[in-house]
Amino acid sequence: MTRDPRYDILFEPVKIGPVVAPNRFYQVPHCNGMGNLRPRMLAAMRGIKAEGGWGVVCTEYCSIHPSSDDLPHPYNSLWSQADIKANALVTEKVHEFGALAGVELWAAGASGANLLTREVPLGVDSRPNLAGHPLQTRAMDSQDIKNLRRWHRTAALRAREAGFDIVYIYATHHYLLSQFLSPEHNHRTDEYGGSLENRVRLVRELIEETKDAIGDTCAVAVRMAADDGTGTPDEPVTGERREMFEMLAELPDLWDINVQDYEHEMGVSRFVKEGSLEKAMHYVKSITTKPVVTVGRFTSPDTMVAQIRRGITDFIGAARPSIADPFLPRKIEEGRLDEIRECIGCNICYTGDSLSVPIRCTQNPTMGEEWRRGWHPENIEPKSHDALILVIGAGPAGLEATRALGQRGYQVMLAEASTELGGRVAQECRLPGLAEWGRVRDYRVQQIQVMPNVDVFLDNDLNAEDALSIGADHIVVATGAQWRADGFGRYHTKPCLNLGPSRQIFTPNDIFSGHLPKGRGLVFDDDHYYLGSVLAEALVAHGAEVCFVTPENLVSAWGVNSDEQHQTQQRLIELGVQIITAHGLDEFDGAEATLGCVYTKQTRVVAADAVLLVTARTPNDSLYEEITAKIESDPPAKYPTVDKIGDCDAPAIIASAIYAGHRYARELGTNMEQSDVIRHDRLFDPN
Ligand code: ADP
Ligand code: SF4
Repeated sequence: MTRDPRYDILFEPVKIGPVVAPNRFYQVPHCNGMGNLRPRMLAAMRGIKAEGGWGVVCTEYCSIHPSSDDLPHPYNSLWSQADIKANALVTEKVHEFGALAGVELWAAGASGANLLTREVPLGVDSRPNLAGHPLQTRAMDSQDIKNLRRWHRTAALRAREAGFDIVYIYATHHYLLSQFLSPEHNHRTDEYGGSLENRVRLVRELIEETKDAIGDTCAVAVRMAADDGTGTPDEPVTGERREMFEMLAELPDLWDINVQDYEHEMGVSRFVKEGSLEKAMHYVKSITTKPVVTVGRFTSPDTMVAQIRRGITDFIGAARPSIADPFLPRKIEEGRLDEIRECIGCNICYTGDSLSVPIRCTQNPTMGEEWRRGWHPENIEPKSHDALILVIGAGPAGLEATRALGQRGYQVMLAEASTELGGRVAQECRLPGLAEWGRVRDYRVQQIQVMPNVDVFLDNDLNAEDALSIGADHIVVATGAQWRADGFGRYHTKPCLNLGPSRQIFTPNDIFSGHLPKGRGLVFDDDHYYLGSVLAEALVAHGAEVCFVTPENLVSAWGVNSDEQHQTQQRLIELGVQIITAHGLDEFDGAEATLGCVYTKQTRVVAADAVLLVTARTPNDSLYEEITAKIESDPPAKYPTVDKIGDCDAPAIIASAIYAGHRYARELGTNMEQSDVIRHDRLFDPN
């Protein structure tokens, strides 16, 4: 297929100072939980983006000197010759496919704690660490500023030696340079504080000095927030920020623009929709002749074209859409729009950085596995043998196994008990704010329905006899899990005996099937991720008065890792939900719930007509057990292999179910064991 001419504009080359981007697809810097700890994994992942058609591929934040260390969050670095070699792995991969490589030079300021290097963190003034560590920065004196400028220049030279084409001055995200710019944070009385001109001085110097050092061959980009948080939603860029942009407008070769509020910039789809930064971007583009890049979780080529034609941006910046589908540009170029794997805005990718582990993606199971397992997002080994595979259950695990097995060329039968595909995803995407999660199902269904070797059977609740009578060579059970109604979970390590009457006890499965409580509802969330709070929101939407109880100190505490916790708690407060933290549900008698304090064991009583338990799930593994037992007791003529995957094996997040389905399909017929296929990228010695 060929490209629709409507999208030609996306494939125009764009000049950025001394270099030229081959198209307008620009993967902006994004963290990934690998950084300088896992350089081979990082290089392979970035290389795949370039192969997929991204014209510019950037690294994540890259420390210029040991005085900027962010561990436990993995970052890149250019401190030494060894770092140059590690970064050259990235640039070589990116260049192999004709893309430009960018690097985001970074100075931490009050956000870095230097727990690895034990250097004293340097700040615009002496202030408490912004990540909550019990330490303060040292106020930079004039020698510190001279040192910083020297380190930045040296890092820029190293970046060029490593092969980068675009080098960033990173003046946003609450790191050091953004604090120099900020009237709120910069209280200095020297030539770097006070007036606007003084506060902009350091950024200006760094732009000029970087240009002087490498500007003849490398483009110099500035990443900065369009707003300073003082504007309105309709006019976010106001007052002094405008003057700041006007002062610097023509200095860099490229502007990479975001907004102050990180939760807005990379908000989960529950709270922030596609293209939400537009109002802030418009102003920057209007005051500079230099190219501008911005993000917006763009996945629709029509929206991308509109953004460029309407003068909002010159490049389609992306982090998450490039993670969910590294081949998004190629698919647009080749007219394969149906094959785009759209990001769902769940931010599981971001949890890699939060938790210091390699990046994962809900939609793209190969993300982070490009080097370690040698997985490619688009290519997969053809089948090793002719075989019929029966997949039971069409949730994310079963759908992905079916899709990838079908892609390998196997004959696949997918049986689903209900009348719709998608399993938990089909149910959860009907909840408030989660509509985009339906893309997990949609992408796979779209792929499966054009595969002649895949047959789908809805409304087929198989038992062991049915499953074995089909004569499949391989059976894979992906029957999911059910939420428990007995309170068992983290708080109650045994089923709770004091819950009754059962008609007033609800689980998420009841809500999915439209069976909602009436009156005052108490949500007991011992799961600590998104579902409890989303269900509380759903109950409010149905007119219930809701009390939300959690043994944690925060609503949806695990959501800290996906950067949605703050918005989640804010949402429940705004909805008028009564929030009781640090309490467990001890008893419910049908009219009152008794709650126990996790610290003191003191109890309190709240009125409730119904309790919704979000605590733990029971795997639906009885079919798997029955099939294996039957094979043992009554051996059939032909023995199928039998496996279980996804939530029916071990309940987890959707990303894990997709991964399990993908892995099953990849490894069928390979006799691979986990230890054979994981390569350890550690103790990197580039010499
Ligand atoms: P996962 O997240 O592991 O993919 P889900 O709970 O989302 O699990 O999906 C499991 C799917 O399996 C559901 O759509 C459910 O209807 C289906 N299922 C459960 N038991 C059977 C069965 N015996 N036969 C066919 N399909 C089943
Ligand atoms: Fe998008 Fe979720 Fe994948 Fe991140 S993990 S890229 S938010 S689908």
